[in-house]
Amino acid sequence: MNDILVIGAGYTGMMAAHGIAHRNRDARVTLLNPTDRFDERLRQHQVAAGQELGDHRIPDLVAPAGIRFVEGRAAAIDPAARRVVLTDERELRYDFLVYAIGSATRKVKGAFTIDDPLLAGRLRERPDGTLTVCGAGLTGIEAATEIAEAYPRMRVRLLSRGEPGSMMGPKAKAHLMRALDRLGVEVRTGATVAEVAPEAVVLEGGERIPTDTALWTTGVRVAPLAAEAGIATDDTGRVLVDAALRSVSHPEIYAIGDAAAIRQAYGVIHGTCQSGIPSAAHAAESITRRLRGKEPKPFRFGYIHQPVSLGRKDAVIQFTNADDTPSRWYLKGKAAIAYKEAVSGSPLKFYRSRRAIPARMTGRTGGRRNRLAA
Ligand SMILES: Cc1cc2nc3c(=O)[nH]c(=O)nc-3n(C[C@H](O)[C@H](O)[C@H](O)COP(=O)(O)OP(=O)(O)OC[C@H]3O[C@@H](n4cnc5c(N)ncnc54)[C@H](O)[C@@H]3O)c2cc1C
Repeated sequence: MNDILVIGAGYTGMMAAHGIAHRNRDARVTLLNPTDRFDERLRQHQVAAGQELGDHRIPDLVAPAGIRFVEGRAAAIDPAARRVVLTDERELRYDFLVYAIGSATRKVKGAFTIDDPLLAGRLRERPDGTLTVCGAGLTGIEAATEIAEAYPRMRVRLLSRGEPGSMMGPKAKAHLMRALDRLGVEVRTGATVAEVAPEAVVLEGGERIPTDTALWTTGVRVAPLAAEAGIATDDTGRVLVDAALRSVSHPEIYAIGDAAAIRQAYGVIHGTCQSGIPSAAHAAESITRRLRGKEPKPFRFGYIHQPVSLGRKDAVIQFTNADDTPSRWYLKGKAAIAYKEAVSGSPLKFYRSRRAIPARMTGRTGGRRNRLAA
């Protein structure tokens, strides 16, 4: 019997474990994660703004599918012996490993990141204070609007080098800018942060912007677990994979989601659930084919959307071409809120349903239908 170990029970690790368990009844599938609570990373800005999320326990989501859950953190991978050593020195062996440890925002001294469990408490203590959000990518925009809506007396600033929403088409971007204005978020463009000092953010050129709280939202890092094991990675720590999502240096290891450097014709995919979940479905399919002595198929993925919440009462969805450039279609207001909620809630619904992964999500049927399925 083959042992398949999935490290990381985020959105993609959960999907891969389900996909493998569903299609390989005679394989032993183990899912490893530091906590037994499923972290809805798509909603971290809601947590920062003080909202309570549902309490979803990983064992409840995987045990009915026959997946073994192990609570623990991988400290080292030993590819030669095909085993993973945990921080408490327990060991798990594998025949195939799925690397799904995700990514996190780069830590900057003096600033919070969106996943910091202390951020919500800090904001709650200072409802009349000032918050400076450094970086106006999608996480920065979602955090600034969510927090400004939850704390109307708080002074929320959004600092950015370029224009917020620069990746969107003109109509979606105009809607985004109106929402920031309506919520009283002060946008400052052309700003490069040099340093986060106590009680201030210092810009290049020396200007000090006084702030109670600084929130850093740009730059991604992947923990160096794979690199330390001698597995080939790029310079951000993502595992380099081939078209079937196998490590280029260790073909018994598959990498998916934010922790994988997955190349497509238009470039390397950036970390989103939108791309990560199809990559997980494809890795499950690749492993299944390998166990059955078949050749794997290449993974193909094209983007469909940039979904952005603007607080709880507004959102904007920019639909895209396969390479993530904006198409002419977008949604705003109520339709966009419903769409974004469907995006954020559907992974958990899927894990609960114990359905098979739709064939069109595995990449077998090609880019366009894969995008539609996502
Ligand atoms: C505020 C916010 C909003 C977002 N909105 C969207 C959106 O609307 N659409 C979209 O497509 N994407 C969105 N994203 C991006 C999306 O959340 C990520 O791309 C996605 O979570 C990646 O999934 P993953 O499984 O690769 O990693 P994660 O979901 O981060 O899961 C990784 C898991 O691995 C575990 N882990 C880490 N290290 C170890 C270890 N050593 N041992 C064992 N387990 C480990 C972690 O604890 C975690 O459970 C958003 C992100 C943020 C922060």
